[in-house]
Amino acid sequence: MHTNRLTLWDFDDTLANSADAVTELAEQNPAVPAWMWWHNPALSTLAAERTTPIVERWLELAATPGDHAILTGRNGEAVEAWLRAHADHPVIGAAVRKIRGVISTSHNGDHKVVSISTAAKKAIIIARLAPRYADITLVDDTVENLEAAVEAVPTVRAIAA
Ligand SMILES: [Mg+2]
Repeated sequence: MHTNRLTLWDFDDTLANSADAVTELAEQNPAVPAWMWWHNPALSTLAAERTTPIVERWLELAATPGDHAILTGRNGEAVEAWLRAHADHPVIGAAVRKIRGVISTSHNGDHKVVSISTAAKKAIIIARLAPRYADITLVDDTVENLEAAVEAVPTVRAIAA
């Protein structure tokens, strides 16, 4: 049942501390192209396992009414694995279980050949969802993503994480 209110949460460095984990893995494995830690299903899942939740933001999510989904530039399987691993977390588990779906703009590295930015891909997805919701909020730590979303759908509420 839709509540007519949707909050889309970015994952990396919005809901989880990802940059540090990826930087560490990239330093330890210099032969692996850096993008693979974000986009390759197996490696991205390995990197996601090392990321810790940003607890304050999960508590915000728990207190926000309406539907919740993750809109990520990262490999979707990696985010789903992370959600499964945290579903019974004593503090954030209830919030994790409120996530209805993971929408990923990553396609295992085809960002290398498709010259469209993550921000543009996220904006396209939000524009597709817009007719179904009276009220859409995007929470994201990347300013370009917020700007592209508002440009595509001016009624979107953009919140910098
Ligand atoms: Mg991010």
